[in-house]
Amino acid sequence: MDFALDDEQRMMREMALRICRNELEPRLGAHPADAPMSRSLLLELFAAVRGTGLLAPRLPETDGGAGLRMLDYGLMLELVPAALAISLIAHEGCIARLYSECTPAQKARLLPPLIAGEAIGCTGSTEPDAGSDPRAVQSRLHRQGDRLLLSGRKLWITNGSVADVMIVTCRDLRDGSGSRAPMAKVIVERARTPFEAREIDTIGLRQGLLAEIVFEDYPVEPGNVIESGGGATEVLKATWSVNRPLIGLVAVGLAQRAFDLALDYSRLRTQFGKPIAGHQLVQKALSDAATAIESSRLLCHSALAAIDRGEGSPGRGAMAKRHAQNACQEAIWQSMNVLGASGLAVETGIERLYRDVRMLAIPDGTNEILSLIHGRELTGVEALRGTAARAS
Ligand SMILES: Cc1cc2nc3c(=O)[nH]c(=O)nc-3n(C[C@H](O)[C@H](O)[C@H](O)COP(=O)(O)OP(=O)(O)OC[C@H]3O[C@@H](n4cnc5c(N)ncnc54)[C@H](O)[C@@H]3O)c2cc1C
Repeated sequence: MDFALDDEQRMMREMALRICRNELEPRLGAHPADAPMSRSLLLELFAAVRGTGLLAPRLPETDGGAGLRMLDYGLMLELVPAALAISLIAHEGCIARLYSECTPAQKARLLPPLIAGEAIGCTGSTEPDAGSDPRAVQSRLHRQGDRLLLSGRKLWITNGSVADVMIVTCRDLRDGSGSRAPMAKVIVERARTPFEAREIDTIGLRQGLLAEIVFEDYPVEPGNVIESGGGATEVLKATWSVNRPLIGLVAVGLAQRAFDLALDYSRLRTQFGKPIAGHQLVQKALSDAATAIESSRLLCHSALAAIDRGEGSPGRGAMAKRHAQNACQEAIWQSMNVLGASGLAVETGIERLYRDVRMLAIPDGTNEILSLIHGRELTGVEALRGTAARAS
């Protein structure tokens, strides 16, 4: 086992770091800290990362993707500003699902602009009454005469207000079945049929994009229904298994920034006649924070490397994300403390990291749900739905 980056990975990290410093951070820095990115800003940022492979890392090069290993994707994503990283994960998830589930004709039409970052993608599953339990989805695809219509509300959708393409999970009432209707997925295209979306104001990731979207008898073209059958659940699980350690690495990136600020400050700030770095409890706070960051990074890397070896599992990804979010939140708290009152000041920039990391406890499985996914894999017993189940 070798924990060192190879030459290619080092070069990828250096390239990502250069783009973050020269392109992404200045553009986001010039945008108000409390305002969601505009569509044009997000497209500019997508254009800036085009050469890194972050837009379509999972797709093979033969199909226009970057053909990256998931570990390499994660190594770069950790460096990207968090609000953009979450947008990229949502965009990439949309591409990966279109690629896995769509017909050749659908792919040929939809994928090229998404892969190039000239269009924005997202996926809409969560609803006002369907969060942790995706089977509670109530949005419905139904018929009116010879028209197909989509009705329902989607909530907390990353990129939702600016997306060109959204994969919407809903109930399939095309055959008139009732509440036990099977699930369906519909591709919604803003350019063909616009839809209403509103941004939701949240505690953190305030430059990020999180929307509520209402569909009321929204016309769906028959060619925009994804007829992937039973494989859809497997595709969804595969997407989540990758996304969770990636979100864990976004938490690591936030905590690393907080730790770097705290370390610098501890060397400069003098109290009781010496730099506070020389006080034992300050060293312990820094040691605890560094340990939290490193253990989180290693767990996420290990989960992604397992996926690359074909040995990934929902439990492993769930464990990595839950540990990283918890540990990095604590690490940022410790780092803020090292700055004393300055840690609370908006101008220091560290309180924002604390607000941002809090957001990551929720998407792609809350920490409670992740512990149950991991627990199911450890025990082979299903706790979420009360029935014995395969640990998968
Ligand atoms: C930054 C961000 C980005 C997001 N992006 C997207 C997106 O792009 N697309 C999308 O579809 N959704 C997205 N979401 C929504 C997210 O997936 C849901 O918010 C999440 O699944 C939780 O659902 P909920 O908020 O309705 O909470 P609920 O499911 O209502 O849970 C409320 C509380 O109850 C707990 N709970 C629920 N069930 C159980 C149980 N069985 N055992 C123990 N505790 C339980 C939860 O852990 C939580 O603490 C995003 C959310 C955030 C914050």
